[in-house]
Amino acid sequence: MDWMEKELAALTGEGLERTLTWHAPITDNPGYLLRENRMLLDLSSNDYLGLAGHSAVVEAMRQALFVEGAGSGASRLVTGNRRPYRVLEEQLAAWQQSEAALVFGSGYIANIGVIQALVSRDDVVFSDKLNHASIVDGIALSRAEHARYRHNDMEHLRSLLNRHRDKRRKLIVTDAVFSMDGDCAPLQELVALKREYGAMLMVDEAHSGGLYGPRGEGLCHKLGLSNEVDIHMGTFSKSFGVYGAYVCGSHILIQWLINRARPLIYSTALPPSVITGISQALALVQDEHWRRERLSAASRRFRSMLGEAGFEIGRGDSPIIPIIVGDNAKALRFSSALEEEGIATVAIRPPTVPSGTARIRFSLSAVHSDEDLNRAAAAIRRIAIELGVLRS
Ligand code: PMP
Repeated sequence: MDWMEKELAALTGEGLERTLTWHAPITDNPGYLLRENRMLLDLSSNDYLGLAGHSAVVEAMRQALFVEGAGSGASRLVTGNRRPYRVLEEQLAAWQQSEAALVFGSGYIANIGVIQALVSRDDVVFSDKLNHASIVDGIALSRAEHARYRHNDMEHLRSLLNRHRDKRRKLIVTDAVFSMDGDCAPLQELVALKREYGAMLMVDEAHSGGLYGPRGEGLCHKLGLSNEVDIHMGTFSKSFGVYGAYVCGSHILIQWLINRARPLIYSTALPPSVITGISQALALVQDEHWRRERLSAASRRFRSMLGEAGFEIGRGDSPIIPIIVGDNAKALRFSSALEEEGIATVAIRPPTVPSGTARIRFSLSAVHSDEDLNRAAAAIRRIAIELGVLRS
């Protein structure tokens, strides 16, 4: 095992070694966390709507624990398919206006399971270069050819579609909102290409589910494209504040996944209390539109404050707002300096993002106050000037 020590030392030298840090939520002060016993403004988690500590969600889970017990005991095809699953999947299909829905253990698990079930050796997957790692891993496991197109570059995608015209099955897959950049996929153009080339289209709404559409259905619904998307995938670990994931689509798709998605077949079902918590969170996501509105306004305001300070910030209202620092060590110094100011962020470095594009990724929540965000924007500007990321 000597090689491991050497490899780790090399990672440390490049500013790329990761370590685990202890965190705790602060229940009476949402939007903040405790890190090593210090209270910090949390600009790094994905609890976009502030539901992770919501009392109704926690109470629903507590009650379900007493009725259903701690674990589900087996996979869903054995004896793990408890009543809360039926309730949630009916609720999900109605929310997404799809024929059917299926719950998975997590977003990561859903992506690897679905892609592997849809394509194999004779097929091709067209995937945006910035798609999430779980999509990349799903394609590798499927053994289909991986045709990566340049980020949001529809001309490049078209040329790859032409090159692979003769493949048996074609799947186009994209994040709706990109997790490390906060920009959106050109869904209208993707739908047009999918039609023209007879491909299947899968959209990962991990960072848009709950945030867009009148009832938080996601970006596809907001753009009126939901009927054109064959496979809708989203996770319950971010806007919903819980854990797990969903896939929505036709009856045939869901029946196929029940028969062919390996994580669904071979892994134990999520505990019923988690499923009940998601049901409660979904009700809040649908009904409490003010959370989406508040987050969208806060995201626009924070983007414009950073833009005025001199950062190149894309437009839009996604709550994911990165500042590209470039150098790994400098990104680490930036996040340490923010921590000194009482602000928790994470330096995102390769391999999560391409080499030379290390960044600080801010993620906002509906529970952040205007004062919190003003204070953060001022500290970010000051530190960026000190580190030479911005000119004064
Ligand atoms: N897809 C995307 C786009 C993501 O950002 C993530 C989470 N980082 C996932 C899938 C995986 O979701 P989960 O955390 O529920 O496994």
